[in-house]
Amino acid sequence: MQYQEILNIIEAETLNRSNTGRVASYIPELAKIDADKLGMHLYCINSGHYGFGDENERFSIQSISKVFSLTLAMSLLDDELFKRVDVEPSGDPFNSLIQLEYENGIPRNPLINAGALVIADTLVSILKNPQEEFLNFIHVITGDTTIDINSKVFDSEKKHSYRNASLLNLMKSFGNIKNDLETVLDLYIYQCSIEMSCKELATAFMIYANAGKILSNDVQIIPSGKVKRINAIMQTCGFYDEAGEFSFRVGLPGKSGVGGGIAAIHPGHYAVTVWSPPLNPKGNSKLGMYALERLTTLTGFSIF
Ligand code: GLN
Repeated sequence: MQYQEILNIIEAETLNRSNTGRVASYIPELAKIDADKLGMHLYCINSGHYGFGDENERFSIQSISKVFSLTLAMSLLDDELFKRVDVEPSGDPFNSLIQLEYENGIPRNPLINAGALVIADTLVSILKNPQEEFLNFIHVITGDTTIDINSKVFDSEKKHSYRNASLLNLMKSFGNIKNDLETVLDLYIYQCSIEMSCKELATAFMIYANAGKILSNDVQIIPSGKVKRINAIMQTCGFYDEAGEFSFRVGLPGKSGVGGGIAAIHPGHYAVTVWSPPLNPKGNSKLGMYALERLTTLTGFSIF
């Protein structure tokens, strides 16, 4: 079967399902999104682009940005980075404070909020203009310089960032945050408020499917040995306390965001993204997970 035919089946099946998820409301600006949006994009190394629905409409990438900040930090630092953030699944919600106290301010992994805040702190230490350079990194890997943040989403999250501020304060008390807390928090909220479409995200995620290289121009963004590690972290930690469930049902490394997006890859084959705003109780797109489960089921092809 051809990929576009498979995507057409997934579109019909997904539209047919009742969506019991709920759009994120703890960032009030995100609650305004139309819950019926649905888009999917598949970018194959050998055969190019396929998609359906709202695949070209930009949405808030939120925690999917944690994969990009990890990539940028790993491209600048070697293993010393992993003294400050571990690589173990947390089994706890993305914004949980509980393990941090027991584990002396060292976050379980870079894809929960605490870990992404440590990564943001390292970027603030290394980069001269962290926000601009972060956005520039996205421009380079997508080849699209029109991608930007949504400043309303930025302001909205900033006004409601008590938990992320708590995580930062707790880690600072253990000496695991080096810079000014507000500067670090601002970089984190900035990266989360970037907007991209399914097609743009799949293009960006192609570096993880293509051994660290941009497919269109062969530029090596990060060594393939580091991509192996990033993909391993996505597989084990990309969906917080639902990482096991995502592996079990879908069988691909990936990352979700509370904007309703999910990006996943099949190393050596494709990058795939889906967007449906209503979330399940773990904060992952309800229909997004379903659509990806159908992709690996109908193609008979996952990493397992
Ligand atoms: N900006 C969001 C937060 O920190 C990102 C969470 C997410 O997408 N899971 O709460």
